[in-house]
Amino acid sequence: MIKPVAPGGGDGRPAEANTPAATAPMDFIREIIARDLESGKHQGVATRFPPEPNGYLHIGHAKSICLNFGVAKEFGGTCNLRFDDTNPTKEDVEYVDSIIDSVHWLGFDWGDRLYYASDYFEQIYQYTVGLIRDGKAYVDELTAEQIREYRGTLTEPGKDSPWRNRPVDESLDLFARMRKGEFEDGTKVLRAKIDMASPNLNLRDPVIYRIRHATHHRTGDAWCLYPMYDYTHAISDAIEQITHSLCTLEFEDHRPLYDWTVDNLPVPSKPRQIEFARLNLTYTVMSKRKLLQLVQEGLVSGWDDPRMPTIVGLRRRGFTPESIREFAARIGVAKRENMVDVALLEDAVRDDLNRRAPRAMAVLRPLRVVIENYPEGQVEQIEIPANPEDPSMGNRAVPFSKVLYIEQDDFREVPPPKYFRLSPGREVRLRGTYFLKCERVVKDERGEIVELRCTYDPATRKGSSPEGRKVKATIHWVSAAHAIDAQVRLYDRLFTVPDPHDAEEGRDWKSYLNPGSLEVIEGCKVEPGLAKAGALEKFQFERLGYFCVDPDTAAGRLVFNRTVPLRDPWARIASR
Ligand code: ATP
Ligand code: MG
Repeated sequence: MIKPVAPGGGDGRPAEANTPAATAPMDFIREIIARDLESGKHQGVATRFPPEPNGYLHIGHAKSICLNFGVAKEFGGTCNLRFDDTNPTKEDVEYVDSIIDSVHWLGFDWGDRLYYASDYFEQIYQYTVGLIRDGKAYVDELTAEQIREYRGTLTEPGKDSPWRNRPVDESLDLFARMRKGEFEDGTKVLRAKIDMASPNLNLRDPVIYRIRHATHHRTGDAWCLYPMYDYTHAISDAIEQITHSLCTLEFEDHRPLYDWTVDNLPVPSKPRQIEFARLNLTYTVMSKRKLLQLVQEGLVSGWDDPRMPTIVGLRRRGFTPESIREFAARIGVAKRENMVDVALLEDAVRDDLNRRAPRAMAVLRPLRVVIENYPEGQVEQIEIPANPEDPSMGNRAVPFSKVLYIEQDDFREVPPPKYFRLSPGREVRLRGTYFLKCERVVKDERGEIVELRCTYDPATRKGSSPEGRKVKATIHWVSAAHAIDAQVRLYDRLFTVPDPHDAEEGRDWKSYLNPGSLEVIEGCKVEPGLAKAGALEKFQFERLGYFCVDPDTAAGRLVFNRTVPLRDPWARIASR
């Protein structure tokens, strides 16, 4: 069997430019392609990613992108980006632009092979005239409702439209006049003449052209007659000489129509359609229609809301293209529908950022600590590794002084059992530096803790622990005089149930939105090294998780998004 070439080989591009993941495992699609190359059925591989520009791309599309561009790359072939833009009323250049941007961001490139189905409208029209002439298509004048009635059901055959056997010349004439704009929307359609008794409803004379007096985002008002999606898709694939047309399982029943189309038109090639299972992720929705609804109804802040499963949302949340490609490689490609745990996606970004993200200290809910025996006005620069996973990243200097902030959570006046962090009389280590001991709690008139009075032990600096003294916890801190204020946005799952959908009792899928999916915390304190962090720069805030700078950050106002918390140690123990 011909094995795919190593990523990065083939066309001489650098490995990172166009590869899905370091190791793409063999799956049933790659096996089919390898066999087709070995048997000589094909000399090369040509795939395409065919979005309809009616929404932003989501993580499900990323799976398809990684597959299509991935196999092309591995087998030394090509992958086109093609917009299947056959529905003028729902499509927009805004979507075209965002899709182009997202595919590039994911790390894939189509060279000069950017295509639009609308560029083929004239060619498709000419093919169709030939089809009518061959007696394989006819103009039908039934209404949409009648067409539905005549179609029959899964158990009953359909019945012929009274127009099914009208003379070819009459259909040719009407089709030409449909193009000229002589008829209203919905008054006439063109149907393929296949088989009204077929057990497959898609073959019961499917509509292949409809009249739509609408302005198209690319062809403007040149057309008022638009070819249907299935028909256009097959022809576009054939025109581009796609060898393997990879699509999701819902198109399995459409495959006979795909084959009929390429078999009955004088197209330059006969691509093979292969279906794979679409990606479903827990605690989110993945249909563009539903995502659009969330945006339009203001239930999220936009397509790039960091809670959205869109590529732009994930990017803003702090995901890297590498982590998404790795996720796609880990879930693989199969033929059976399934639901993937969103935790797998989070694991992929954690693994990636663990290797690459510089560490920093940030205190989300500050509690003031005054070190009574620390010299007034003294500042020490504490050297802490920028990333313990990668010594080549060196150290960072973090200022230490008499007044610090620690997390409110890291102190308990009355510590519960197994709580080892700070409490009155107890000592902990401050990350990268001294032992700190809580001597006294200062409260306001309402009894709220406002400050801790502490002492430090100068002999304990730099991880040395004096004989006989151990501490059970290390906590992070930020020097109050040097800290920078930040807003931090914490995200939780967008929905409260793994598979939000309309329920039988009439419950709407949107009623499962998680009211706590966004928590905004003001007045966070971060170490001064972050002052100049730019949009989307990523960090691990020690002990808290991975964070990135939100594009809302403006001069003097830092905003961070939490991408994911650190791995929950309890979750790992529980799963063992
Ligand atoms: P909708 O979300 O409204 O069902 P769509 O996702 O099918 O629309 P397209 O623009 O037609 O939108 O999708 C482009 C390509 O991405 C298609 O080949 C489609 O099969 C694939 N794709 C879409 N959703 C997923 C998914 N969840 N998993 C894998 N591939 C997907
Ligand atoms: Mg689709």
